Amino acid sequence: MSLRLKDSVRKKLYMIIVIAILAFIGLFSIKSIVTMIKQKTNIEYKLEHHGYSTKEIKILKRNYNKKELTKLLDKEADKNIPLLIEEKYYIAKNLDKYLDYLKANPNTPVSKVISYINTRANEKWYTDPKEADLSKGKLLLVNKFNKLNEDYTPELVNVSNWYAYGENKLTQEAYEAFIQMFNGAKDSGTKIVATSCYRSYENQKRIYDKDVYKYGEEIADESVAKPGFSEHQTGLAIDLLEPGYNLNNFHESTAYSWLLDNAHKYGFILRYPSDKEDITGYSYESWHFRYVGVEVATKIHNENITYDEYYAYYLNK
Ligand SMILES: [Zn+2]
Repeated sequence: MSLRLKDSVRKKLYMIIVIAILAFIGLFSIKSIVTMIKQKTNIEYKLEHHGYSTKEIKILKRNYNKKELTKLLDKEADKNIPLLIEEKYYIAKNLDKYLDYLKANPNTPVSKVISYINTRANEKWYTDPKEADLSKGKLLLVNKFNKLNEDYTPELVNVSNWYAYGENKLTQEAYEAFIQMFNGAKDSGTKIVATSCYRSYENQKRIYDKDVYKYGEEIADESVAKPGFSEHQTGLAIDLLEPGYNLNNFHESTAYSWLLDNAHKYGFILRYPSDKEDITGYSYESWHFRYVGVEVATKIHNENITYDEYYAYYLNK
């Protein structure tokens, strides 16, 4: 009697164990199926399997939305992408160009790559130039890829001989800012004088042709703009000197050091700095200043960028 009872208890016990095992297996497989589905749709999981590290995925997620992240899966995983994205002047539409440039020039710092591509400085100067965008007003960009028409003449006013050597013209706004800068320099005990302001297309052509005749086109292109490509045609650029100095030693003058610290407060920037020749395409010109207005000049001064870089990132992105 007691044995039979024990048998039935044992049977029940077996059943319970079997049910428990089946339930456990069932639960476990449901859970793993759910995880699998979850992982299949999880962008992080996909990026990781595409070859990105956890740290890189964090950077990518911080800068890209889901659609952009998904698009990344269409191209090979590239360690340079997270590095580029974190750069201040990164422009999304230029990503492929950045990557191509880095592939061909792997030792170039990513910040340089971004500057080159944004400003087109990686291309041969004067290739496929565009018409300068006149709608930008005083912020218009004229450089080796953005040109003015032969007949473009801004509205100009005469610069008084009090402030300049010879006959000179500027736009009204640039002229007023220049007078304030002149007075600011004077108050600080230094003197600046304008030597060359507005130049017409024809005038620039004469200067350029003369340089080509003297030094050949390659050397002329480093220091003199081709006609149509000169900022002087905008009426917003001034070549400055301190009396007693010339173009070769102006960088040693007190007026020049004063300008470096103060020109932006009046809306002017040093347009062709010594350490940015690879971006501007021009040899260092300590004397050439460009009017862009106080707000933009201050930003350019504080961020230590060229006008070409400013324009690409802030005005033409
Ligand atoms: Zn100049």
